[in-house]
This record gives sequence, structure tokens and C-alpha cells, in this order.
Amino acid sequence: MFGRLGTALRSAVQRMGMGSVITQKDIERTLREIRVALLEADVALPVIKAFLGRVQEQALGKNIVRSLRPDQVISKIVYDETLALVNNAPVQWAKNSCILAVGLQGSGKTTLCGKLAFMFQTQKISTLLVSLDPYRPAAQTQLTVLGHSIGVDVLSVVPGEDVYTTAKRALTYKSSYEHVIFDTAGRLHVDTALMQELTELQNILRAKEVLLVCDSLIGQSITEVIKAFSQFPLTGIALSKLDANHKAGVILSLKSLLNLPIKILGTGEKPQDFMLWDAKRIVNRILDQGDLTELVEKTTQALSKETQAQQLQRLRQGIFTLDDLILQMNALQKMGGLSSLLKLIPGMGTVLESLQNKDTSFKKEKAILSSMTPKERKDPKILDASRKRRVAKGSGTTVQDINQLLTRFGNIKKILGNLPNKR
Ligand code: GDP
Repeated sequence: MFGRLGTALRSAVQRMGMGSVITQKDIERTLREIRVALLEADVALPVIKAFLGRVQEQALGKNIVRSLRPDQVISKIVYDETLALVNNAPVQWAKNSCILAVGLQGSGKTTLCGKLAFMFQTQKISTLLVSLDPYRPAAQTQLTVLGHSIGVDVLSVVPGEDVYTTAKRALTYKSSYEHVIFDTAGRLHVDTALMQELTELQNILRAKEVLLVCDSLIGQSITEVIKAFSQFPLTGIALSKLDANHKAGVILSLKSLLNLPIKILGTGEKPQDFMLWDAKRIVNRILDQGDLTELVEKTTQALSKETQAQQLQRLRQGIFTLDDLILQMNALQKMGGLSSLLKLIPGMGTVLESLQNKDTSFKKEKAILSSMTPKERKDPKILDASRKRRVAKGSGTTVQDINQLLTRFGNIKKILGNLPNKR
């Protein structure tokens, strides 16, 4: 959905220098690369300019926190600024309300109504679907079929009934349902007749939620569509077809340009193919990045100063054994498994995916480690098949569990080996 954007942003920041201060030259090169990545993703130019300005301002001359490299510092700044671009209040649906979906023809309104109805249905919230598109009987049929396929009630269609009468008829059922979702007629272009009809409908319905459905594939033209609809009291945007879109930069542009929250993303044609807006989740997906600050905070909290100092001393000498792993595990136990530590490290998404049994519990791992001899913990390479069988027996696990732990240990060792030398 975000194509190369995450990879490009990550590689831009990873090429930062390794000195103790971020230099103007480092920044300029990195910002140039980020600019290209954002342009390729179809982010609007004014948004890119403002974004880069803020990153530069914060990064320049910033002293490097002892335990972080310059690329990690920039990474954090880029993360925070990207989050600021998309940070909306969490999505909440008003109780006992009408929801109106408006938008151009083909933008995905009917599909969106199905998605909302499906979402409420899974939450056991009673919902009625209503088609306000008497001009296209096929659209009415589409909504009826959709509603029935997900087990949600659909207002019966009365042939020849005008749209305002249908709206009033639907309101008579309002007290029986928590939500009444209205699908409206679209046009190929915004015109006065459409606006007038929508305004009159809203006068009747007084919908608390008016969602403008936009096809994300039209890219930056979305801002024109939103502006055209903005004479209408919109409460949010539903962006459709993100699954088919490899330049989803529009997501990063909308808040800055129009200050209208995106509430839901369509990620496929089926009722279950959607994602409610969640800024952190979106940014994590864009950047394939865990929250570095969280890692630093958690690690700092978990390791006592003394242990931390000892660990750093050993790392500086290139030493990390299974005994150190036990120390780390004791300290990090609250985090719920080694995979959660890995998740916090930028770019580890792919490594995590390659790890099977991601959530091996600490308990099992600790049992394995304590069944090993000190010599084995110091040098796990000596763990041949017969030693592994002995450890498996002693810890009530399997040789496969031991191999998985050793693979994880190897991966962590590799990551830790990449930490800069502390002075
Ligand atoms: P409407 O005219 O605004 O009601 O648009 P529809 O809901 O009928 O959608 C138009 C077309 O887009 C249909 O073929 C839908 O299946 C398709 N569509 C809608 N939302 C999505 C989406 O999120 N992803 C994909 N791939 N297709 C979608």
C-alpha cells in the first residue's frame, strides 16, 4: 500500500554519518533522499517542504544521545514528524446515529456502507442499510445483496419512490437500530444538483457522521474533490482502494492540506477489507518501524544502571553470551518475549517475519538456558546433537525449541553487534 516509501525513507536515514553530532552535510543528503521518496509516493509538494523543514530544524546540530547513532536520531525525528502528519483523534462513531456516505460515482460508497455495516455487525450493534440512489436500480440491488450477504437489514426498495420520501421512511425505523447507514447517489463530477440533493437530505436526516468516500487511485486530485464537497458539512474521509494503490502518499497530505480526518481505509472489495484509522499503526506500516524511543525507554527502565554499565562494557569488548541473554531476559521480562524487543528495533519487520514461533515464552527459554552448562552458555557452538537432546530433556522442551532460541540469540547478537562503540 505504501510501495517503496518505507524502504526509501529507511535507507535515507540509515546512510547518515556515524559521528557524535549530526552535520549539515549529513542532513542535506538525507533530506534530498527523503524528498525524492515522498515525491515518488505522490505526497503534495507543500506538505513535503514543510515536513523537510521541520525535520531539518530539529536534527541540525542535535547532540547524539550516548547510546543512539545519528541515523537512529533522524529516524526518530522522521517518525515523529510523519506521525504529526497523520495524527487524528481515534475514530469513534456517535451512538444512535445516522451515517451518510457521499462521493463521486464509483468512488466506493456502496462498498464502504457494507464495510461499516459489517464492522457494526461483528460488534453486535444493530444496523440498517438504506440506499438513497433511486436513479440506478443496480446500485439499490447491490446494497441489498451486500446487506443480505453479511446478515444486516436493508430498507426495502419501493419502485418510483423519490429520495426524500425514502429518507423519511428510513427515519421511522431509527429507534429500532443503533445506526442507520445511508448510501447516496454519486455523479461523475460534483454539480449543483448533487449538492442541492445532499443538502436537502442532510436537512431531513441530520446525520452525525457524513463521510466523503474518495478513491485513493485518483491521487492528488482528491484534494480538489474534497474542496468541491466542502460546502457540505463533512465529518471525515473514507479512502478506498488502497490495496490497489502503490502511491498512497495522499494519506500524508490530507490533514495538512484540508484538516479533515481520514476515518477509514478501504483495502479490498470485501466487507472485511478495511482498516479503521490508527495513526501509529499507519506510520509503523509506512516506515516498517518500531518505536525507537519506546525501546530506549523500556530498556533503560528495565536494566538497572549497574547492569546496563556492565552490559555496555561487555558489548564494547564484543562479548555477548547466553549468560548475558539471561541477564537481559530477566530485565526485560515485562516486555513479553524476545520478539517484542525485536519489534521495537527499526527495520526488523522482515527479520521478525522470518522467525517462526515468534512468541516463544520467556519461561521456556529460561528453562532451556538453565539446563545448559556454564560452558555451553559461554560457547553455544559446542552444543552438538547429543548435548541438545540432554538440554531438551532437562528443560522439558524439544531440540527444535533449542534451535529456535539459538537462532534468536544469533539475530540479537547480530543487532547488538551493530551498535556503535560507546566512548
Ligand atoms: P459507488 O459507485 O461509489 O457506490 O462505488 P462502489 O462501492 O460500487 O465501488 C466501485 C468499484 O470499486 C466496485 O467494483 C468495488 O468493488 C470497488 N471497490 C470499492 N472499494 C474498494 C477497495 O477498497 N479496494 C478495491 N480493490 N476495490 C474497491
